[in-house]
Order: sequence, then structure tokens, then C-alpha cells
Amino acid sequence: MRSIQTEVLVVGGGATGAGVVADLALRGFQSILVEKRDLSHGTTGRYHGLLHSGGRYVVKDPKAAVECIEENRILRRIMPHCLEDTGGFFVTTPWDDPDFGDVFMKGCQDAGVPCEEISISQMLKEEPLLNPGIGRCFRVPDASADSFLATQCVAELARQHGAGILNYHEVKQLLREGDKVVGALCYDLASDEDVTIHADMVVNAAGAWAGKIAGTIGVEVNVTPGKGTMIAANHRIVNTVINRCKMPADGDILVPIHTVSVIGTTDERVSDPEHFAIEPWEVKLMLEEGEKLVPGFKEMRMLRAWAGVRPLYQETRVADTRDVTRAYTLLDHQDRDGIDGFITITGGKWTTYRQMAEVTVDKVCQKVGTQRECRTHLEPVPNLYSPGYHTEDGYHFLGARLARTEATDNFGELVCECEMATRADVEQAIVEGDAKTFDDVRRSVRLGMGPCQGGFCTYRVAGMLHSLRRPSIEETNVALRDFLQERWKGLMPILWGPQLKQERLDELIYLSVLNADHLPGAKASRLGPAMYEPGTIEENPV
Ligand SMILES: Cc1cc2nc3c(=O)[nH]c(=O)nc-3n(C[C@H](O)[C@H](O)[C@H](O)COP(=O)(O)OP(=O)(O)OC[C@H]3O[C@@H](n4cnc5c(N)ncnc54)[C@H](O)[C@@H]3O)c2cc1C
Repeated sequence: MRSIQTEVLVVGGGATGAGVVADLALRGFQSILVEKRDLSHGTTGRYHGLLHSGGRYVVKDPKAAVECIEENRILRRIMPHCLEDTGGFFVTTPWDDPDFGDVFMKGCQDAGVPCEEISISQMLKEEPLLNPGIGRCFRVPDASADSFLATQCVAELARQHGAGILNYHEVKQLLREGDKVVGALCYDLASDEDVTIHADMVVNAAGAWAGKIAGTIGVEVNVTPGKGTMIAANHRIVNTVINRCKMPADGDILVPIHTVSVIGTTDERVSDPEHFAIEPWEVKLMLEEGEKLVPGFKEMRMLRAWAGVRPLYQETRVADTRDVTRAYTLLDHQDRDGIDGFITITGGKWTTYRQMAEVTVDKVCQKVGTQRECRTHLEPVPNLYSPGYHTEDGYHFLGARLARTEATDNFGELVCECEMATRADVEQAIVEGDAKTFDDVRRSVRLGMGPCQGGFCTYRVAGMLHSLRRPSIEETNVALRDFLQERWKGLMPILWGPQLKQERLDELIYLSVLNADHLPGAKASRLGPAMYEPGTIEENPV
């Protein structure tokens, strides 16, 4: 069995784990991150896409609001290329109490969140589709964020400072010697072998799975997954993040991100972070709440519904030894459970991932008796985008792919027309980005995330993945089928109108034109070669 030695092992390749391993590397620790699938496979790849200004929390949770605005400023400085500087509005619809606006304004002042009330005519000038019945509008520095890109870039920062990033490495069991955790037994899905990683310290950053990781050595970490459902509409209905100006509730934020607008979310406790269904009531509620912000929302074309899981931590110990803020939880298992060499960091928000990483690595330093200053708030995160993809301020520029295609007149090179991804983009994702599955390519270039939901482009990418990675024909066919099945699951809850027509067309291409369901190997078990098995989270097992 392969065996690796490191100082700190980080479990989980979401925003938090990537942030922790980057911070460790910058402070000179030898470190390795293991992720059971691709980076951002978990909640980080299934969130709402909002860089919070803190506005959402100024009334309910001022401490969280302060954390958000502090981190908002830092992330704008260190990773503007992963953000779109949309700005944000908090609006009082006819269903909301207009006096809440004053409470909101006061909360923003107290928490240091920049906020100005603007006129409704100005609001409508900037966002003409918003409900003209909106009574008050406040501008805050929200933004939208590409979490797939951000996690890749933060992982790259870690790599550049010597860390190892091992995706497709699943922790099967933490290794414990007496009262100390000394590493983990992992399964390398790509090479189908077990690997032992010995470490002086293990950081559990497995989000909603943190309880499962701790459970492998009998330590109880009570994390309940809280499911949140979101729906993407097929275009940019708004260019500003729109929040309802009221206490946080379901379906009260509309985020413009890349080519779509996303309404969300719900918050329902589920028993398993891997298996949950999107309920019809959630879809209905999202549409109804969207309609309050944008009249006609219900009739617009919806592309897809999906869900992510919040890690909701609940302390079960009588003596609560948590080092915890209201927003996230850091557990030192030596203080809490008498187990040395093991820390859990869970909860929080994407917006605060860097701060969560900082406090975690501070704890690592404290435990090993060393003092090394955090530098992640100063160090720019590497930019994996090509030049020309940014605004003058360095933020992501939505029009970049179109501008590039028009300038070079290479429409024939487009592999995914919905997202304007070219053959070169996909090749780069596979070769340089180490994309192993269709889902990995999706996270890199947004393959299959537009109106056709992969109905056209997946076949082209199948050819490219096959010729560049050389799996067997059967593996490629299974992977193609599984990817499309996974995309279609997200379509099921919103199948009406134009998206139903689109789905019928995709189905005809799949079943009748290409007979893709009967390609060699396509009937094989979904649990076929692990390397090509796409995400298994049942977004909608209808
Ligand atoms: C519906 C919803 C909407 C949200 N919207 C926003 C928002 O707009 N803005 C914001 O700031 N925050 C938002 N959040 C919160 C934010 O998404 C999360 O706080 C953040 O993404 C959590 O990141 P994480 O790295 O801690 O967890 P995750 O991203 O879940 O990472 C944990 C990783 O651990 C891996 N893992 C699990 N088991 C193993 C194992 N055995 N071996 C190896 N790896 C393993 C998983 O595959 C996963 O990739 C939202 C959350 C939800 C649920």
C-alpha cells in the first residue's frame, strides 16, 4: 500500500479545506489536502453564488455581518477575478414592512456595512425588471462569486507554496493510535488503491460530512445537513444581487451569476448529505417569491433546480468547549474529547472561508507551539483566467467569452454554445486543469450549465475526453450517459414551457438520433469505473 508522510492533513476540498491548506502552506507547514471527488464537489459547488456584504445578517446576527463585510473587502482585494462586482440591493416589496428599512439602515451602520438608500426611479433605471411596487431600496456592496474557480485558484495558491492537492482520494478511516489521530486511510479512486497518509495533525474540513469523518474514530460531531434548494433562470434577469429587505427567509435572494439568475433558497433538515430530493413545494415557493421581486418571473424559462447542504452544527457535550462564533464552529478534539492531533472546522459561509481557515491554522500553530503570522489576507490568489477576462478593476467580465469569439471569429470552435466555451477551453480544463470527468469539465468551463443542459455539447466533449485521457470506449459511454442523467435530474422539477421542449429535443437526440442509451457499455452499472463516475448527490431523484 502506498504511504505518504506530511505535517498536516486536511480532509475536504471545498472552500474551507482549500483555504486551510493554502494558509498552512503560506505559513510554511508541509500539508496535503484530500477530497473524495473533484474540488468543490460538496456544498461549495452547490451554493447560491453570493459574496455577502453582511447586509443579510445586520439585524439577525450582527457578528456574522461584521465577519462578512471584513471578508468581503479582503476577497475583493485578493481574488477579484473570481468575483463579479454586481453590487446589491435590499428592497422592500409590497409584502414587506417598509419600517424594517430603518432597522436595516441602523444595523448596517452599526456593523460597518456601507449602505445608501436610493430612489425607486434610480433602482428601476438600473434594474428595469424589478417590481415597480417596491417601496424602498438600499444599495450595499454584495457581489456574485464563482466558487468553482475560486476553489481551484486557492488550491493553486497552496500548490505554489508546496502543498499537495489529492482529489479523488476518499478518507475511509482516520488512523488513531491511543488518544492521538495520526493520519488517515484513503482510497484513491483514480488508481483504485488504498493510500495511507501519516500526519502530525488532521484538520476535518468536510462540511456536512464532518460528522462522518469524526465518526470513523468514534468521536461524535453532530452535524445535521440543512438542504437549500435553488432554481436558475436562463438569463440575467437582473445584473445586481437582489435581497428582500426583511428578516432572512426562504426564496428572498436573486443572484445574477455568469449567464443565469439564481433564486433561492429553502432550508430543510435532511438526514443524509448525499441523498435528498427537491420537493414540488420548494419549486412553487421559489417561483412565488421570485414573482414578488420581478413580475413575470413565474413565466420565465427556468433551466434547472438543485440543492446544497448547510452543515448545521449542534453541540452535544454537556461541557461545551467549543471555540465557536455564531457563524462557524472550530473544535479542538483534545479539549473536547481527549483526542490529540485532530481539529474540526465546520459551518460558516463561502464568504468567510478565509477567516475560518485563518482561525483553524492559528489553532494548529497553538497546538504545535509555534507562532507564524497568517498572510492569506495579503497574498493575491493566482488567476487561472486568460487576460481579457476582467474589468479594469480586475473583476470577472461576463462578456469576455463573447468578445473573444467575435474578435477571432471562431464560432466553429465552440463546443458549448450556451456558455461559449471553445475546444481550447475544454482541452485546457482536461489537460492543464486535470479534469477527469464530464462533471469536472462542467465545473471548469460551465459545460452543460446553459439552456440545453448538456444535450448538445456533452457528445463533443465525450470525444475530447476520450482522445485526451484514453479511457476505454465503454467507460466513456457510461460516463456520457451518467452525466446526462445527472443533468436531467435537475430538469425534472421545472419541466414545463420552453424547457420541456428543450428536454424533448435533448431526449430525441439521445434516444433516437444517437441511440446513446445503447452504446457499447452504456448499460453498465453506474458504479462502473470510479474515475468516471459523476457526482452521486441525488439532486432530484424523482
Ligand atoms: C443552499 C445554500 C446556499 C448557500 N449560499 C451561500 C451564499 O450565497 N454565500 C455564501 O457565502 N455562502 C453560502 N452558503 C454557505 C456555503 O456554501 C458553505 O458555507 C461553504 O460552501 C461550505 O464549504 P466547506 O468547504 O466547509 O464544505 P463543502 O464545500 O461541502 O466541502 C466539504 C468537502 O468534503 C468532501 N468530503 C466529504 N467526505 C469526504 C471523505 N470521506 N474524504 C474526502 N473528502 C470528503 C466533500 O466531497 C466536500 O467537497 C450556502 C449554503 C447552502 C447550503
